[in-house]
Amino acid sequence: MMIKTLRLLSLATALALSSAVAVPGQAQEAPIARCTTSGIALQLLGSGGPISDDARASSGAIIWINGKARILIDAGGGTYLRYGQSGARLEDLDFIGISHFHTDHSADLPAILKGGYFLASSHRVKLVGPTGDANFPSMSTFFKREFGKGQGAFAYLSGLSSASDGLKLAVETADVNVKAERPTVVWRGDGVTISAYGIPHGDVPTLAYRIETPKGVIVLSADQNGSRKGFVDFAKGADILMMPAAIDNDADAASRFLHATPDIVGRIAAQVNPHMLVLDHFMGRALRDKDHNVQIIRGFYHGSALAGRDLSCVPLSH
Ligand SMILES: [Zn+2]
Repeated sequence: MMIKTLRLLSLATALALSSAVAVPGQAQEAPIARCTTSGIALQLLGSGGPISDDARASSGAIIWINGKARILIDAGGGTYLRYGQSGARLEDLDFIGISHFHTDHSADLPAILKGGYFLASSHRVKLVGPTGDANFPSMSTFFKREFGKGQGAFAYLSGLSSASDGLKLAVETADVNVKAERPTVVWRGDGVTISAYGIPHGDVPTLAYRIETPKGVIVLSADQNGSRKGFVDFAKGADILMMPAAIDNDADAASRFLHATPDIVGRIAAQVNPHMLVLDHFMGRALRDKDHNVQIIRGFYHGSALAGRDLSCVPLSH
């Protein structure tokens, strides 16, 4: 009994600490909550950017469906820890979507998949990501370079491709053409349809994901500069739209080639008009000016908005 109480306390303490990190300019933060109830919900694992001075985990989010974490989108640095804190279990996971191969969206993938050694029985998961180019691997090439037998950095996990060598997890990879004119359906099951669509993150091959469920639609945009008009159509009808708030309006040209400024995020949100706009991917400087940036976004978009924190839980409300 005492041990159980201590365990609960230590989890509560860990969550409290993660919510109490002092960040200048912090205001109106979403409360940290467990998402493991009934219904469908989006839970952020990480809400920060690629630099550790924001004291947040990098990008990653899970979709809870009736108490199970069935879908994981992105696995940036720090999401391995948050995945555990969220209560998600690898044996419940059906789909992993990676937006692009910057470390703040993909670096913790091996750490999360390693849990495949410790499952009670065999389980299959689909792993989807973008096609590659001269500078970035495709999803299937990334998987080979990480886990390929005799060649991967983590070749000791090569059994991940077929649930062998002691691993109980079988990972099936697929590449989605980021230049495809129309969205690509990447997974279907239990009334849920997931599709992916290329978005302009500078010249980094990058995908956004749309998750249609019986209770509503969740669209997760990863990093993008907002210049592809088709994204609004892709995101139309979203109940929850997640957009990165990575930079300020006065960011330099190189940053604006990679990321959307708050006025562009606001314009896109206004066009999509979701029930709830969730902002994530806060980098140090954007975090200091967060309230101002949110004000700019709200100058265009007048619906509900949430500045995400690590482990923020956003239920689909109908
Ligand atoms: Zn990126």
